[in-house]
Amino acid sequence: MNVIGRFAPSPTGLLHIGNLRTALIAWLCAHQEDGKLLLRIEDLDRFNSKPEHEARQIADLASLGMMFSSNLIRQSERFDHYRAIVDNLRDQGLVYPCYCTRREILEATQAPHGPTIEGAYAGTCRELSTSDRAEREQGGRPPAWRLRTNSETYVVDDQVVGPTTTTIDDMVLLRNDGVPAYNLAVVVDDAEQGVTQVVRGDDLLIGTGRHIHLQQLLGYPSPQYVHVPLVVGQDGERLAKRHGAVTLADLQQRGLGVTEVLSELARSIGSQVERPQSVRDLLKDFKLERLPRSPWTIPSDWQTVHHDN
Ligand code: GLU
Repeated sequence: MNVIGRFAPSPTGLLHIGNLRTALIAWLCAHQEDGKLLLRIEDLDRFNSKPEHEARQIADLASLGMMFSSNLIRQSERFDHYRAIVDNLRDQGLVYPCYCTRREILEATQAPHGPTIEGAYAGTCRELSTSDRAEREQGGRPPAWRLRTNSETYVVDDQVVGPTTTTIDDMVLLRNDGVPAYNLAVVVDDAEQGVTQVVRGDDLLIGTGRHIHLQQLLGYPSPQYVHVPLVVGQDGERLAKRHGAVTLADLQQRGLGVTEVLSELARSIGSQVERPQSVRDLLKDFKLERLPRSPWTIPSDWQTVHHDN
């Protein structure tokens, strides 16, 4: 069976070099197996997602040689579909309304029984009586809808990190502003697009047990997971704008061409290929086993602050 991978950016700004590196690894993992990589636009955030960001992200991926077929999907066009899935779970009594504010959730977070997601939900609204529920309804705050779980534990058999145990919580499936949650959308889309391999940043590994739980509940197969170490600045912190030249546009502005950028990315994934012109050139010696298991620090000369005057 050929691999079907996907790259799923949120169009809330330019892709930074860490996102591009993840895309590159996803592209190589899919293509070394004669598979394909799909592009999915995760624009659930209706406030910060912008078509111009989407267009720039696609252009940046293309300039490194990553082209996608035109049948990309946008999560913003599928809200009704995700909501229908929640309706169905509601009919089965598997979701419940949650009236908690963000603050209440953080305050009630219990010491977890195992490795779990930061801010895991303590279950405050899980067993509300009918009258408690009516009282909260009166408060006028619309509820979010959470999945009823039993703090199940799952082992994610990750191809880079190795087997990783994660404990789940009663995750939100539909937010209180009516927007479907990432955890639901990602699981539904991966399954409906026939995705067999998920390559993404390892900051998302701890939440993957939630995805496995939902896949089992909804009758979907689980894809193979490949969580790649993040990209960091010299200070060891997750890459951010303050680290200097972190987007392709920043690097190009400093006179670096695609080959120079790709060369650094190639080195960072353990490739020996000299002066690659396109991601395709990296297929020659790509092996996931060569990917360093620790975060990649961007080159120091990308980080010097550069003033245009
Ligand atoms: N949309 C997410 C992001 O841009 C990626 C989620 C995923 O790959 O599952 O961080």
